[in-house]
Amino acid sequence: MLTLPTFENVLAAAKRLHGHAHLTPVLQSVTLNTQLGAQIYFKCENFQRMGAFKFRGGFNALAQFSAAQRKSGVVTYSSGNHAQAIALSAKILSMPATIFMPHDASAAKLAATQGYGATVIGYDRYKDDAGALTKELAAQKGMTFIPPFDHADVIAGQGTAALELFDEVGALDALFVCLGGGGLLSGSALAAKARSAQCKIYGVEPEAGNDVQQSLRQGERVKIQTPVTIADGAQTPMVGEITFEIIRAWVDGIHTVTDGQLVQAMRFYAERMKMVVEPTGCLSLAAAIQAGAALKGQRVGVIISGGNVDLGRFAQLLGMGESA
Ligand SMILES: *Cc1c(COP(=O)(O)O)cnc(C)c1O
Repeated sequence: MLTLPTFENVLAAAKRLHGHAHLTPVLQSVTLNTQLGAQIYFKCENFQRMGAFKFRGGFNALAQFSAAQRKSGVVTYSSGNHAQAIALSAKILSMPATIFMPHDASAAKLAATQGYGATVIGYDRYKDDAGALTKELAAQKGMTFIPPFDHADVIAGQGTAALELFDEVGALDALFVCLGGGGLLSGSALAAKARSAQCKIYGVEPEAGNDVQQSLRQGERVKIQTPVTIADGAQTPMVGEITFEIIRAWVDGIHTVTDGQLVQAMRFYAERMKMVVEPTGCLSLAAAIQAGAALKGQRVGVIISGGNVDLGRFAQLLGMGESA
């Protein structure tokens, strides 16, 4: 039997994060509200520490380590934001961190992770089994492995973003959440069910990688080929075990959007709201715009999951939007 995290765990996570995580702003766009005839509330985790919501889950997990666990430290693998989240959390909590990162990880992400003092070990993303390498080192050195989404403490931490949103703006009719392995979505669902029981909760995947949509249809977790999409934070081939149980129980539906729609949302954020949002962070808005008239008259939450994108890449992607 899996032990699922609860809303109480989300509340406890919020306490642990107090004074460590930023209370990120909730913004609105008059242009978009007018266009959709709805009230859209953006929860801006692109302004979270290290640039994404993942700090919440990482810190919540590490803050609960025993003295012995702290001494040996944490180990994980990630090509993206989870690496920085664990590295920064470990630095704050004064414990060693080792992160397996692919040799071709972005230079900015590698530098940030090392900058927080973590030991980075390179691996080949096409040949090596990063999960196996991580577990092997954890067993050898007595380190604790904290995975990016399929962990009760990580999920509870991620749920604090939606908790803050509801506490700031009150009940909502719908909430759109970016979806990779499902940590952010399942944490958000725990918060929504307690704070805004009528709120419809939607996960948003890239069309090229709709494994959660497929999994819900089949009633079991479906594993797909690593999808080709600009949403690099949602390239997970399979949803987690714990996250799937929560999604299955509480989430009302999964939307999918194309890379073209992500670029449009990215342009909207840049032009209208003066924000840099990474492609994966654009999933939620792209789906809300796609839902369009269905949201008329509603109060809608959109979680912006992160803003970490190399500026060269950002400019290149916006250029794509122009010619499209
Ligand atoms: C990790 C990540 C996601 C996906 O989160 P999951 O908890 O794996 O579903 C979405 N957006 C950004 C920016 C991320 O870093």
